[in-house]
Amino acid sequence: MRRMSATRRPFLAARLLSPARRLEPGRMNMSASQSPKRASLCTQSTVTAPAASATSIPTCLSAKSCRNGTRCGSPNPNGRRRRELQSHVRRQNYFPDCTGPAISSQAKRSQFFENGPGAKHITARHGMARMARIIFLGTAAAIPTISRGLPCVCIEREGGLLVFDVGEGAQAAFAKAGLGWNRETAIFVTHLHGDHCLGLPGLIQTMSMQGRGRPLAVYGPEGTAEFVMTNLRMLRFSPPFELSVRDIGEGAIHHSNDYTVSACRADHAIPALSYLFREADRPGRFHPDRARALGVPEGPLWKELQRGRDVPGRGGTVRPGDVLGRGRPGSSVGYSGDTRPTAGLERFFAGCDHLIFDSTFAEEHSERAGSTGHSTAAGAAALARNAGVKHLILTHFSARYADDTIPLAEARRIHHSVTAAADQMSIEV
Ligand SMILES: [Zn+2]
Ligand SMILES: [Zn+2]
Repeated sequence: MRRMSATRRPFLAARLLSPARRLEPGRMNMSASQSPKRASLCTQSTVTAPAASATSIPTCLSAKSCRNGTRCGSPNPNGRRRRELQSHVRRQNYFPDCTGPAISSQAKRSQFFENGPGAKHITARHGMARMARIIFLGTAAAIPTISRGLPCVCIEREGGLLVFDVGEGAQAAFAKAGLGWNRETAIFVTHLHGDHCLGLPGLIQTMSMQGRGRPLAVYGPEGTAEFVMTNLRMLRFSPPFELSVRDIGEGAIHHSNDYTVSACRADHAIPALSYLFREADRPGRFHPDRARALGVPEGPLWKELQRGRDVPGRGGTVRPGDVLGRGRPGSSVGYSGDTRPTAGLERFFAGCDHLIFDSTFAEEHSERAGSTGHSTAAGAAALARNAGVKHLILTHFSARYADDTIPLAEARRIHHSVTAAADQMSIEV
């Protein structure tokens, strides 16, 4: 091993411990102002599409829609050029090496950008209006296989992303799914086994190199902040966006106006958390005929009623309850990470619409599941049945099984609605 010279060592130590880089244990914040220089990859240069087509396309269509988020200001092409680019995107289906053409909203809605190449797509089975989708980016346990990457699951909702675990190579699956690098994003790490967190430094670096400007929040069990901080320090890397990493315990940890993500202790070989995404209850359906009958004209007043506020009507005050149907429960998605099934998790996931649960082993290896802190597919199904879960999704499959046939069959004997996750599969919820 090459040894560092005595004169070099103090200099390095001073750099590593300089106040700007020293961060509180358990919480880390790095802001854009701390970063040496923001990477700006989005220029007027061109990228070449994969070998199948030698067509060159600009990296940016316009200042407003730059996918890299750097608003580089490339000229907006005229309508003919834009149409050419859109058809180019459809022809290609997939740009594995694309560093960021601004894709039109029409192209984004195309099948590829909905599901990724070769993806399965499953529509919700419980009659709920679409509000989000789950995208599986990695469904293997411990070792990646040819068809399965390491654990990473996203919930895409109203333009934002909630990411659960970031296994090695997650950024490649991210790109394959066309998820984009500069969206409102929060990451939830279940535990610090390599298959669940080693992709985090790489994802942060890729986001940086793709010109991310929005803040990024990362949550995880004790040690997560130190893990990220140490990696970035060793790599001498400061992201050009605000990065906050927080060690968390049980309870509600991440809120928005209309959803919450909560954590619960899991039962694994090392400290681990399970997560539950729960949407707030939605208001009932609006009945325009009732509003008209009560003398409320179409327009801003209808919006007020839909937001739950009283408005004046022909015969006096009109209340939201006069024109809205019964409230609808919000959807919920649970993610276990690695764990044995426990009574605590059964309570935590009670009544969940979709539960993504550790199914590392089939029944023939149930002893090994217990000794390594994992669940069998049948164990996951029993927990889901007892918890009143509507739809169980098996994931984290051991590489020792050629496919998911056996675990899936074992789980289906116990629970009525079971799906085996696959990479790039998406489910509307
Ligand atoms: Zn694992
Ligand atoms: Zn683990």
